Amino acid sequence: MKAIRRFTVRPVLPEPLRPLSALARNLRWSWQTETRALFESADPLLWARTAGDPLRLLAGLPPRRLTELAADQEFLTRLNTATAELHHYVTGPRWYQRQAENSPGLPAAVAYFSPEFGVTAALPQYSGGLGILAGDHLKSASDLGVPLIGVGLLYRHGYFRQSLSRDGWQQERYPVLDPNELPVTLLRETDGTPTQIALALPAGRRLRARVWLAQVGRVPLLMLDSDVEDNDPGAREVTDRLYGGGSEHRLLQEMLLGIGGVRAVRAYCRLTGHPAPEVFHTNEGHAGFLGLERIHELGIPGEADAEGLDFDAALEAVRAGTVFTTHTPVPAGIDRFDRELVGRHFGPHAELPGIDVEKVLRLGQETYPGGQPGLFNMAVMGLRLAQRANGVSTLHGQVSREMFAGLWPGFDAEEVPITSITNGVHAPTWVAPEVFALGATMIGAARTEEAMTVGASERWDAVADIADQQVWDVRSTLRAQLVGEVRARLTASWRQRGAGTAELGWIDGVLDPEVLTIGFARRVPSYKRLTLMLRDKDRLRALLLHPERPVQIVVAGKAHPADDGGKRLIQDLVRFADDPRVRHRIVFLPDYGMGMAQKLYPGCDVWLNNPLRPLEACGTSGMKAALNGCLNLSVLDGWWDEWYEPDFGWSIPTADGTATDEDRRDELESKALYDLLERRIAPRFYDRDGAGLPQRWIEMVRQTLTSLGPKVLAGRMVRDYVERLYAPAARGHRSLDPATARSLAAWKERVRDAWPHVEVDQPETSAIGATAEFGSTLALRVRVRTGTLGPDEVEVQAVAGPVDADDRIADARAVPLKPVAGPDLEGRWTYEGPLALDRTGSFGYTVRVLPSHRLLASAAELGLVAVPAEARGESAGVLMR
Ligand SMILES: *Cc1c(COP(=O)(O)O)cnc(C)c1O
Repeated sequence: MKAIRRFTVRPVLPEPLRPLSALARNLRWSWQTETRALFESADPLLWARTAGDPLRLLAGLPPRRLTELAADQEFLTRLNTATAELHHYVTGPRWYQRQAENSPGLPAAVAYFSPEFGVTAALPQYSGGLGILAGDHLKSASDLGVPLIGVGLLYRHGYFRQSLSRDGWQQERYPVLDPNELPVTLLRETDGTPTQIALALPAGRRLRARVWLAQVGRVPLLMLDSDVEDNDPGAREVTDRLYGGGSEHRLLQEMLLGIGGVRAVRAYCRLTGHPAPEVFHTNEGHAGFLGLERIHELGIPGEADAEGLDFDAALEAVRAGTVFTTHTPVPAGIDRFDRELVGRHFGPHAELPGIDVEKVLRLGQETYPGGQPGLFNMAVMGLRLAQRANGVSTLHGQVSREMFAGLWPGFDAEEVPITSITNGVHAPTWVAPEVFALGATMIGAARTEEAMTVGASERWDAVADIADQQVWDVRSTLRAQLVGEVRARLTASWRQRGAGTAELGWIDGVLDPEVLTIGFARRVPSYKRLTLMLRDKDRLRALLLHPERPVQIVVAGKAHPADDGGKRLIQDLVRFADDPRVRHRIVFLPDYGMGMAQKLYPGCDVWLNNPLRPLEACGTSGMKAALNGCLNLSVLDGWWDEWYEPDFGWSIPTADGTATDEDRRDELESKALYDLLERRIAPRFYDRDGAGLPQRWIEMVRQTLTSLGPKVLAGRMVRDYVERLYAPAARGHRSLDPATARSLAAWKERVRDAWPHVEVDQPETSAIGATAEFGSTLALRVRVRTGTLGPDEVEVQAVAGPVDADDRIADARAVPLKPVAGPDLEGRWTYEGPLALDRTGSFGYTVRVLPSHRLLASAAELGLVAVPAEARGESAGVLMR
């Protein structure tokens, strides 16, 4: 019989064990080995059965065992140590507090919004890289002491669980997650009633949500949940699952995340006394509406500023403190809604009634060549609502600048104000305890932990002194553990696919702990090319079955439920791996998630990544593998494009640019992949010295750790965010008090109106012919009509550099010119300045006029520029159609 209601009966812990409950509720346990070991020792079998979930463990401990533990002095001592450690961790000063002493400008708090968070497998609220990155961001912020508040949604089903049908077709299940069984607590008002957030929907409906709080070390994570009784059935479904449903469903999720999220942050700060965020960071465009809610807040008349700010002034105030991170150059990864749908959800009879709907719609309008007038683009809105924006690797920053260049017409892509901060991964989460222990024997546990969280590179140099034998022993142990894990998972998968135990004897021979092991696991969008390795099946089989130098491959990944193309790729792979000839050397493991990933990366020798360049914005699984001494074999895309060196890995030559048709490109790149495996990688792995050690391989493992270790850390990434984006954004936010915001908005409006009348004549130079001498200096002079603008409201620049055959300036350098006279009878100001000829070869220059104001973060910010008539070319195009 099926129950119509379910609830959880919590065990009553005996007094001495009470602190276990607090330990289980702070997710710090997920990256603290001793605390996990403590829980495990309470009941190792139950721990394994709950996949390492402390709350489920505590719920399942039999009363007899509880009594035993309550009297176990050794256990209680460890419990006290763990509790004291957590207290110290949560309350003591850390990196940020030390920084703040020297730079008082750091923000009092930062709110970090993301549609998904992958903190631990015990809180499954993620689908892939974006969410896990967000989880790693929170954990590193916690380690560094950055006062972050995470904001997301709590999905009743999370993402789906994957299994396979007999013939290898992906099956999806959506088990219900009961918040009462998750490591979250309800945010409550002082009188004990649950805090409720509400949004107004069209036709008088309301969308209400309660707020769950997960504690991630020092960082609170607020998760909104619309499954409350006061909601109508449609509204209850809004937070049903991650990335499910149609357009309107997605829009409601994003409104709840952005607008409801800001309201949840306000409630949290009011109830706990947490300082209000000075910076709002949106991880991808999905939470972009948060900027609208803050504009709305500033429009409400208040005490400090009796009138409230109008839209344009509020927009300036909000932009200054907003950071937007774009994560994908793949158009399908960017949300675009029907303009009409968005329009219906804002305005007088819906949400944010005080804001003119047209102004909302204009923020998301694709105003560039090729843009679609009927669509509302969340990334475009994100860029307009944030004064600071970034991509997630150097290459992705460049690709993003090109992709969005149309929003800054008249500027070269290099000048588009989108910078980049390369992603990183949270080492204490992703490094196997065995690898950590190796570090601890060299430099001690505390320094190893510091090296992994803050990322001091000197500490990583200690890896050079680890003996070959020790390195190899750890690598072999991890590989052997993976083999065991794969067999267990494969057995479970085959049972699920309908096989009986008697049929499964062969699984005991799947994978070999001595064989070169290659891993490939990620989501399955087409650009990641799951099946590139299957391009020449005979050749792959030969690699797997090589008599002396075989390889074995572990594959995993989920396809989006609506993506039949992706499911077909999985089926192709599964069918290949089901073949009795090779099934002991290649496996597909269903239900890729954090739990599997934590076992998989350390156990592999080589981590394979073969995306279509440049569509992998960064990629992080290879970083997690690297931190465990696994070598990367990857197309030069994302982070690997930036940091690859032949000393510690291999690059798969890419045919982007040369092979235009995709089939040809797959052909070339797969061939290069087979060649590398056969001729370079396998021979090196199997090349053993007298002691049976692959010395050259071990050296590459060392190089991976010392060179990549300090770079790929989320600690490095979060420090970059603090220094390069959060601190300037906090300063910007503070500068924009209401009066300044009004005057900046008024100034921008005046500049936009005046700009059509700004004109610049041809520049004159001190006489030179077609050639000039290296080291000499030209005197430049140009006349500029500034119309109604004063000469100090514009910047006149000479832009110079080497030119190509089409007279395009590459590597341009801008030098400001000074106003020296004016205005003349025609209203022209004269600007002058020197231009140093410091390069040999073809050299060119031009002049241009830009708006100038101390509160602009970039000269391109307004997208306004005036150039001499002769220099006007076509504006940059965009990639996104
Ligand atoms: C790290 C990770 C990802 C992201 O991997 P990419 O290489 O960025 O595609 C996806 N899923 C899980 C479970 C991960 O741990």
